[in-house]
Amino acid sequence: MTITASRSDSVGGGGRVTGGPMTLTGRVVDGPSGFTGVEATPEWAAEIKRLARERNATILAHNYQLPEIQDVADHVGDSLALSRIAAEAPEDTIVFCGVHFMAETAKILSPDKTVLIPDQRAGCSLADSISADELREWKAEHPGALVVSYVNTTAAVKALTDICCTSSNAVDVVASIDPDREVLFLPDQFLGAHVKRVTGRDNIHIWAGECHVHAGINGDELTEQARTHPNAELFVHPECGCATSALYLAGEGAFPADRVHILSTGGMIDAAKAARSSEVLVATEIGMLHQLRKAAPGIDFQAVNDRASCKYMKMITPAALLRCLAENRDEVHVDPETAAAGRDSVLRMIAIGNPGGGE
Ligand code: SF4
Repeated sequence: MTITASRSDSVGGGGRVTGGPMTLTGRVVDGPSGFTGVEATPEWAAEIKRLARERNATILAHNYQLPEIQDVADHVGDSLALSRIAAEAPEDTIVFCGVHFMAETAKILSPDKTVLIPDQRAGCSLADSISADELREWKAEHPGALVVSYVNTTAAVKALTDICCTSSNAVDVVASIDPDREVLFLPDQFLGAHVKRVTGRDNIHIWAGECHVHAGINGDELTEQARTHPNAELFVHPECGCATSALYLAGEGAFPADRVHILSTGGMIDAAKAARSSEVLVATEIGMLHQLRKAAPGIDFQAVNDRASCKYMKMITPAALLRCLAENRDEVHVDPETAAAGRDSVLRMIAIGNPGGGE
């Protein structure tokens, strides 16, 4: 079916955009793994840009988005950097191409703006590994404990948190807490184990959550990659839930320490431009490879695990983005009380150490 877009765009039943001058091939189809049916052609990109201008919207894309989504976005980055851009953007609508907790964080920091996510089903297995009710129960078991949450959490969990953290400042955040005070650390068990090891603290309780993607980056695989690529460097992006196991394993010696670089997204791009080695292994979600290859085309960037792909990130498809801009959907809501409490824990995170950029 042909999709035609116009100023009175609508994605009506069956998901068709009708009535205008531009012809896009395909049809928006709602399936179990997201919206499909529209190809990322130059016409699609032009229509996305036109609709964004018409809606006074800015399009933000996380580094782990599909390459075509990254390429059409106004800004590409990590979650915290994008949330800050959202707060400062002159546009009154933010289209957040990422997963739901990231769009919620943008809404928490920009409560007066309209925040849209192209498919609200784009969740995060790490954020979903603890609910607000579970956290309330855990806190009740440890009265007086301080709650430190990795930024990959829902707004409701952030609202029950004392201090959020990223992987970059998790150690600093925990080290800033009175050594006699119990700490509840959530939801990522690998980041928690890393923090516990570095701080030497034994009054830290760690929630047994994990990201489904990082299960594919294991010690055997890292050791094997180190053996078969003797000259390669290893880039680990610490702010990604899926890289925290690599961070932990690198600390355990599964990859020679002198070849391991723990880098934020910005640092990774800078390191790629300055790198002398011709081969770099990347331990993170594979979407990151797109920005690295653009930054340093002469380097062979390979994923430590090319199956480390987040199915939730990939739900933001060309069809989903077209539907989003045509219909102003899906809008992200965070009730004002939750947003205010969550904002406090996020702002405390930003004040301690170098928070990096979130996932
Ligand atoms: S890669 Fe893992 S931590 Fe990141 S959004 Fe996907 S499920 Fe969540």
